[in-house]
Amino acid sequence: MLLPVPLLQWYGENARVLPWRSSPDPYRVLVSETMLQQTRVTAVLAYFERFMEQLPTVEALAAAEEDRLLKLWQGLGYYNRARNLQKAAKQIVSDFGGRFPDTPEALLSLAGVGEYTAGAIASIAFGIPVPAVDGNVLRVIARLIGSDLDIAKPAAKRQFKDRILAVMPKNSPGDFNQALMELGATVCLPSGAPQCGRCPAQTFCRAHLEERTAELPVRSPKPARRVEERTVYLIFHEGKAALRRRPEKGLLAGLWEYPNEPAGEDPLAGWGICPRETQRAGSGKHIFTHMEWHMTGQAVTADSDALPPGWVWADRRELGQVYALPSAFRCFEDRVFSRLF
Ligand code: SF4
Repeated sequence: MLLPVPLLQWYGENARVLPWRSSPDPYRVLVSETMLQQTRVTAVLAYFERFMEQLPTVEALAAAEEDRLLKLWQGLGYYNRARNLQKAAKQIVSDFGGRFPDTPEALLSLAGVGEYTAGAIASIAFGIPVPAVDGNVLRVIARLIGSDLDIAKPAAKRQFKDRILAVMPKNSPGDFNQALMELGATVCLPSGAPQCGRCPAQTFCRAHLEERTAELPVRSPKPARRVEERTVYLIFHEGKAALRRRPEKGLLAGLWEYPNEPAGEDPLAGWGICPRETQRAGSGKHIFTHMEWHMTGQAVTADSDALPPGWVWADRRELGQVYALPSAFRCFEDRVFSRLF
């Protein structure tokens, strides 16, 4: 794998200008890498800038109110990432005296930090030669070495890490890791669409030389997602909408939501809500990793302000600025806001 020189040169000339690259201190790397998990760079940019403005240090993040944190994260999804980020910040403050841990082993002890993120922080912020292997890098390496290993299996990751470590330049591990990620994100694209003509590895890449780019990497298919039909109750009273908090554990843990239940149930009476009027109110679909919600909205005009314990009425300002709702409910946003004062 004749990689480092052409790859580093290519990275120097082609790396995208991204805000977290301008000053790669460990906090910025941690926040950006956490946001980038399962989320595109273009979607993360504005979130990252806003997050850094409002919570510029580990201490600020550790001390932030959870609702404020979730509001900053609203729309990015996978909210456990935000919670773990704050847990990690609290650990750094309490267990490491506010100093960012600077070894891969210590980084791995932080909440939400797995091998990839630990490798990214250690190499980019501290110059330690350890690989950082995400999905993009798995794809690039599988093609470069022409590997038929299933990249969904741990054995592939183990072998690829060894291969990367063997060629990693000890004086620029952070750039090398980022170059591999960048190549995967911008040139060695998935779904049979690599742009080999502008790739710095085209003269020695096995997949390209053997015309196997369409069949590599090998990946076992993911299990099919479960579909749940749900009714979402948009309950209004005097210009406010009813919200409830989701349980502290599980899907979308602790976030606020419009009350919703599996379709076919009729929970209004159980909630103590007497509808003066109900009507169908749109529909939407949201895809989670293992499940899809197919949602039907039902607008309910309640004849009193009685709500179950823990639920709240939110006006226009509160819904916009205080309560964090997952993007799953974005399809109902216009409909709800049009009825709020
Ligand atoms: Fe990917 Fe093509 Fe480059 Fe090989 S030559 S690493 S397949 S873009």
